[in-house]
Amino acid sequence: MSKKITLLGSTGSIGTQSLDVIRAQGYEVYGLSAHSHVEKILQQIEEFHPKYVCMTDPDAAAKLDAALAGRANAPKLLTGPEGLKELAALDGPDVVLNSVVGIAGLGASLCAIESGHDLALANKESLVTGGHLVTQAVEKHGVQLLPVDSEHSAIFQCLMGRGKGELKKILLTGSGGPFRGRPREELEDVTPEQAVKHPNWSMGAKITIDSATLMNKGLELIEAVWLFGLPPEKIQIVVQRQSIVHSAVQFSDNSIIAQLGVPDMRIPIQYALTYPARVPGVVPELDFTTLKLLTFDVADEETFRCLAACKKAIRKGGLGPCAANGANEEAVKLFLEDKIGFLDIGRLVEAVVDSDSFGGDYSLADVYECDRMARAFVRAHL
Ligand code: NDP
Ligand code: MG
Repeated sequence: MSKKITLLGSTGSIGTQSLDVIRAQGYEVYGLSAHSHVEKILQQIEEFHPKYVCMTDPDAAAKLDAALAGRANAPKLLTGPEGLKELAALDGPDVVLNSVVGIAGLGASLCAIESGHDLALANKESLVTGGHLVTQAVEKHGVQLLPVDSEHSAIFQCLMGRGKGELKKILLTGSGGPFRGRPREELEDVTPEQAVKHPNWSMGAKITIDSATLMNKGLELIEAVWLFGLPPEKIQIVVQRQSIVHSAVQFSDNSIIAQLGVPDMRIPIQYALTYPARVPGVVPELDFTTLKLLTFDVADEETFRCLAACKKAIRKGGLGPCAANGANEEAVKLFLEDKIGFLDIGRLVEAVVDSDSFGGDYSLADVYECDRMARAFVRAHL
């Protein structure tokens, strides 16, 4: 069955892999968005002929506008964060896939849901910063929230519609990152070049750093709390070095169901787009004649403080996770600019989480204010 997709963040790692899936399935692209990569989105426009395109960065938007001038069948250009929300809300697609990075994706997620669209969500920061708003909107508008994050897709697949009542716990797997087993003293001097190399996955810069600090696993734990409605104590982090077991669920009878496959994001992306159907795709099969070893271990929260900080943040509730996320986004940016050390990221995220109680209900305005304050806290504590 053909589908129409609006893809937000199409120039990124998930965005380009989503286009691989869309190309292979012969799906139609209704809208695309990017932030800064003008040449890349021009190529995508050329190939996929979207009706709408949004460029969020103003300079890039002006360049794209000039490049599209006079072209026959040029897409309508929307600009800035408001344009992104407008694009997410437009009637036309069967599903909106959000693969923007960071809290910049939250407004678009909410707009897509509030306009009645099913949302395939790679942008985990939407749930981390505004989980309560996103899940409430999903319920109110009766739309499907389809996880794209590989672990959450795995859990979603293992659950196969079974209720929370039968679920005892979630086993959320992670590779442990490139620095697993290294003592803290050795991590003080890790450079951005070393941290942007992940052993198993090829991803955008921000999530690659998050994987090295284990912040990504902390964000994913919070994402799982919102997606599957379990308290954080019932989500166990399991280090699965080979990234073959993408996560598992344990039912009340202690039977465990896991999802396995090669580490390739195009499986969870495709499942979110074809759900509930399974169809042949572009990803090769897992070869059990060469797969000799699967190892399991516990995560080292003493060394990787980001994971401990995220657990504290979700236990505090309210805006705690939003504060942790905002501090992390700012700290990762500073680390990539060589302005702080690798371990400072965890120190700063933990310090923000410890700085307030964060409890209670919140509005969207509160989320953005908390994000702003967390970033300011980080800059003030350099
Ligand atoms: P990338 O950095 O590769 O891509 C991010 C995308 O968002 C790009 O299209 C970028 O545009 C756009 N973007 C950047 N800043 C803004 C902004 N301020 N406003 C609007 N759009 C913006 O990230 P990834 O693809 O790696 O990750 C995307 C999301 O998916 C993240 O939330 C991540 O956690 C999640 N995820 C990623 C996985 C992976 O394997 N990469 C796995 C699971 C989840 P441009 O490039 O034009 O600047
Ligand atoms: Mg993941």
